[in-house]
Amino acid sequence: MSDQDGGAPGAGETTAADAWPGQAAMASLPAPPTPAGFPALLAHKALVYLRPDKIPAVLPHVDSVWSGMILAGDGSARALRRLQAARVTFPVLTDPEGYKDHTATCEAPFRLPTKDGMFPVTLGAVLDAQLQSGAAAALTPTGYINAAETDVLKAAVTEFAALQRQDSIFLAPLDISLLGRGYFDQTAAILSGLQAPVALLLGCQGNPLDHSKDIIPNLRRLAARVPLIPVRTDFNGLDLLAHGALAAAIGTGGSVRHAVDPAEKHQAFNPGPAPSVLWPQLLTYFKGSTIAELFGARPQLAPSCPCAPCHGRLLTRFLGRDQQDEAIAHGVATWSPLAAQLLSAPSVRDRAEIWKACCEDAVVSHQAVLDMLLRLEGLRPQPSLSRWAALPAWPASLPAPVA
Ligand SMILES: [Zn+2]
Repeated sequence: MSDQDGGAPGAGETTAADAWPGQAAMASLPAPPTPAGFPALLAHKALVYLRPDKIPAVLPHVDSVWSGMILAGDGSARALRRLQAARVTFPVLTDPEGYKDHTATCEAPFRLPTKDGMFPVTLGAVLDAQLQSGAAAALTPTGYINAAETDVLKAAVTEFAALQRQDSIFLAPLDISLLGRGYFDQTAAILSGLQAPVALLLGCQGNPLDHSKDIIPNLRRLAARVPLIPVRTDFNGLDLLAHGALAAAIGTGGSVRHAVDPAEKHQAFNPGPAPSVLWPQLLTYFKGSTIAELFGARPQLAPSCPCAPCHGRLLTRFLGRDQQDEAIAHGVATWSPLAAQLLSAPSVRDRAEIWKACCEDAVVSHQAVLDMLLRLEGLRPQPSLSRWAALPAWPASLPAPVA
């Protein structure tokens, strides 16, 4: 079988079979190919994925060259029109979140509203409505595609492809197991058959990347094969941009960094009043109170942040619910320059090398903080960060870059 990890490799291992032909081709490009139609407006950008009420916090920190917004939730269309009226120069989309309360079936892969409570609205009309509100491109209202349901994914792709729309993007909200060892080849074949950009949304409780060790390498392969736009992500969005994704949309908080099966209750990531805070040196989001507790006995060692919202203040200050917007602004202002650095690298191979070095530094920084605090434990790198740092930037079997 051509899939990887036939034995039980360690975190840093890959085999020659890991390299897909598409990865060799992608590594040498200055950037992934720009697609036809409206999705070209998103190409080579790291967008912010957010609820409309977070726009005021995020707007000052959206990079007009390398970023944009995907809005989701109540009031998104109205907020989009306001952004248009304010003449923002970056692309804005709205996600109809069809996967939130609709499980896709072969007969009804998309969540389509009814008009006057009776007549179903067509898929084309749902897409038109987004564009009429000013969206840079429309996103399909795809329902949640459950484990093992590759036939449902195929039905959704087929129905969308029949519309032949270059102003819209197929959104694939996939149960994470569809990207695991058992189904990845089928999933990749269906998505690449569309021959158009795919907005990929990972579904599961908790961190989708922790589902199995196959997920990160498989997602990287997919990014080399399909014009991929991972949306509603954490730093997985940056990992995939570094490996050939067309664009990515990074969520401002835990609830907008993945999807959950509509039949299940969403398990809260961050109970308690302290907001989730990005610790830049560790490339990881922590509950604000966790950072404060770590430095409780040694406040003089607490890290400060040079970003615009923080203005040199300490990262230990995020303790209250009313600081969530400030924490979100800090997060976007902090990862945006890193995204710009990746996207402006000379080649996709360079993006991956830069990203791997950042992740290695972040892993090392975990231990450096413990050493500084004279502690033996209490700060372990997240498994996904360790994997990004340990995996080769590109499969080792790829030829060396031309100098
Ligand atoms: Zn900051």
